[in-house]
Amino acid sequence: MTTPASNGIVARLREGGVVGAGGAGFPVHVKWAAKVDTVIANGAECEPLLHKDAEIIEHFAAPVLDGLRLAAEATGAGRLFFGIKAKKKAAIAELEKHAPSRRVELSLLGDYYPTGDEFELVHAVTGRLIPPAGLPLEVGVVVNNVESLLNAAMASEGRPVTHKFVTVAGAVGRPATFRVPLGVTFGEVIAAAGGATVEKAAIFVGGVMMGRLTHDLGEPVTKTTTGLIVLPEEHHLVGRMTRPVASMNRIGKSACDQCSSCTEFCPRYLLGYDVQPHKVMRALGFSALGSDFWSKWGDLCCSCGLCTLYSCPEELYPKEACDQAKSRMRQLGQKWRGPDLPLQPHPMAEGRRVPLKKLEQKLGILEYEQPAPFDNRDWAPRRIRLPLKQHAGAPASPVVGPGDRVTAGQKIADVKPDQLGAPIHASIAGRVASVTEKEIVVEA
Ligand code: SF4
Ligand code: SF4
Repeated sequence: MTTPASNGIVARLREGGVVGAGGAGFPVHVKWAAKVDTVIANGAECEPLLHKDAEIIEHFAAPVLDGLRLAAEATGAGRLFFGIKAKKKAAIAELEKHAPSRRVELSLLGDYYPTGDEFELVHAVTGRLIPPAGLPLEVGVVVNNVESLLNAAMASEGRPVTHKFVTVAGAVGRPATFRVPLGVTFGEVIAAAGGATVEKAAIFVGGVMMGRLTHDLGEPVTKTTTGLIVLPEEHHLVGRMTRPVASMNRIGKSACDQCSSCTEFCPRYLLGYDVQPHKVMRALGFSALGSDFWSKWGDLCCSCGLCTLYSCPEELYPKEACDQAKSRMRQLGQKWRGPDLPLQPHPMAEGRRVPLKKLEQKLGILEYEQPAPFDNRDWAPRRIRLPLKQHAGAPASPVVGPGDRVTAGQKIADVKPDQLGAPIHASIAGRVASVTEKEIVVEA
């Protein structure tokens, strides 16, 4: 039942600009408007080398758990779970101090990839399987990343989202996790971690499995930047990710031997969903070179990247083939949900899980697996760039103009009440230097 109190929380989240901080950027106030019986804090963090969620829990367990209680209050949920990997001992110790008084049950998870995927997490914690192409709320669950919950707790006290936790790892002097003002550059954050230790560096934004590659040190941190993984330009992963799609398709068409290893290790397939990347590769093989191709077998793929970066013995690109097939289906207005049968996890699902260490070994990044402790330094950037689109939905529209003076935490852009999206707030005090269609620049 929606109550005035829960309405109030949802309104404060919206005003505070709280969006999914785990990378998705979905406005949290929209999620919390649903009525469910269970809320889950997602602290499963499974992207290799990223440690920001564990650091947040270790240092801010009480407010994160307060955020989870607020989620329960807003959604009417009676059961509160915290999903976290059993190996995160220090973070679990902090949770154990504060969870019982808030009636939160800990759900300890194995160290596999992709444990943090919502479909995986909901199944591991509740035993429920989200319908194909569905949402957790269809099985009575709302899932929030731990940083989103921390931001929600702060927004409930009138403190909007102005900062982001970011892990910097890989080939840097001192891997660390920082809480940085939104809009500082990747270059500033990497410098704070001791700088790149290689001459020519490539940066994976958000992780090597599901993130993207950039070389632009001037890019700003946004509400969805979770981590910056610095790797040498000549690293095998950089080469694989910079290959043009036409070339990925060309080698896929000629070299895929239909061994189906990509399908046999696909986490969604193992959960019982009708994802079969080897059939997507087969469809690619029958398409004209370079043309769009269609295959329903990729539609329920979550783009976790395991098939491309771990399972395929020939180093082909089934994940990228699935991405193209999905995009083609979207263009055609088609959606595949699989056969109309009850979902049934594969009998070998447990045995085929991919341990994180094994994955890191295969990726050639095991040497970079180090702690990234929280560095609570003060940041005083002279200039910040705030993109107007750093959330799912419509971009925000500026509510300030060039020359305006702004205070830290002041709203500088907003979306219309009927639009999906979230407002953006200044992360530093200063003067608005410029406003464009894409971003607002503030100088201290
Ligand atoms: S694992 Fe590689 S070679 Fe085997 S079917 Fe999949 S894409 Fe083809
Ligand atoms: S990226 Fe590959 S392994 Fe991951 S869900 Fe998609 S098809 Fe399955």
